[in-house]
Amino acid sequence: MGLFDKFKEKIASAVQSTTEALGFNKVQKGLEKTRSNFFQKFQSILGIGRKIDQSLLNDIEDILISSDIGIKSTEKIIKALKERIKKEGFEDSSDVILILKEEIQKILVESPSANVDREYKIDENNKPHTILVIGVNGVGKTTTIGKLAYNYKQVGRKVLIGAADTFRAAANEQLEIWAERAGVPIVQQKQGADPASVAYDTLNSAISKGFDVVIIDTAGRLHNKTNLMAELEKISRVMKKLKADAPNDVFLVLDATTGQNAIQQAKEFSKVAQITGIILTKLDGTAKGGVVIPIADELGIPVRYIGVGEKIDDLQVFDPVLFVEALFDNNETN
Ligand code: GDP
Ligand code: GDP
Ligand code: MG
Repeated sequence: MGLFDKFKEKIASAVQSTTEALGFNKVQKGLEKTRSNFFQKFQSILGIGRKIDQSLLNDIEDILISSDIGIKSTEKIIKALKERIKKEGFEDSSDVILILKEEIQKILVESPSANVDREYKIDENNKPHTILVIGVNGVGKTTTIGKLAYNYKQVGRKVLIGAADTFRAAANEQLEIWAERAGVPIVQQKQGADPASVAYDTLNSAISKGFDVVIIDTAGRLHNKTNLMAELEKISRVMKKLKADAPNDVFLVLDATTGQNAIQQAKEFSKVAQITGIILTKLDGTAKGGVVIPIADELGIPVRYIGVGEKIDDLQVFDPVLFVEALFDNNETN
């Protein structure tokens, strides 16, 4: 086995062990509120001996919509449910939960989010891997960058963070704190500096010092679309001077607690940036976690990571199969 293959194997096993170490329990715990809300609602309609009929299907539809699963995805699920009831002849209303689980899993597995193998992998011949992180204020960009940097570092990568949110007064300090937690360096300029200039400095430094991954924080202004577009374009253009394919990823951060509004934000941001992935934060703080389903199903952009807490190790790869297992795993944990 060549040196390069050995290296790849080392990275692969490190990725697997971090995924396992952080994996299921964290996601399961992070989904507690969503899960208990969901099951409480179902318990209230799936009385013993209730027949599967149109009135039950209507109740299920209401629950899915009120669980932030969205109208389109809900319709898809109900349609599949009806077909399966007809074909497979379920009679007991308690079977419904199992079918729902399978149908939701199917939707997610068929969505662009299903490709989870790429996480934390980078092209060895095209370093550094550059990531631009965008999203409105307060969604969790800075926090997520700290966690992402930490996760990359856990699999042996050298990460450099660029503080291109030069707009907010405390932005640099906050990012510094997260970079310190992750144990990675940060490039910054003073407040009010040109964000593109910070991005340039960061990438320039990363190239000359042989970093593997560059993550750029940005300011989250959506009130002025033209300005935002111009700013993001300028950051990308300046980075391309140093590396033609930069940024390799543009991650849009969305706050799960905002429910359907998150979908609206994704649509707005899609107009101003070439988003390659979505990071959905604060799943632990909300019963609206079902929103991940329409986001994955309807937007055509993969959900790459989910935030399930405020600690440095609380960012998880979004694995659709594992997510649905956790969502339906109703054995209460402590
Ligand atoms: P930014 O304005 O987009 O950079 O957002 P910040 O990173 O400053 O985060 C805003 C708030 O969201 C902070 O209080 C974070 O602790 C919190 N936050 C971010 N991600 C998560 C998460 O996954 N779970 C929880 N509970 N809070 C989070
Ligand atoms: P402008 O300087 O605002 O007109 O816009 P540019 O698109 O030329 O670049 C934005 C920022 O990126 C600049 O202010 C610099 O800080 C940085 N930058 C861009 N190109 C270069 C370059 O070739 N060398 C250096 N050192 N910095 C650059
Ligand atoms: Mg921030």
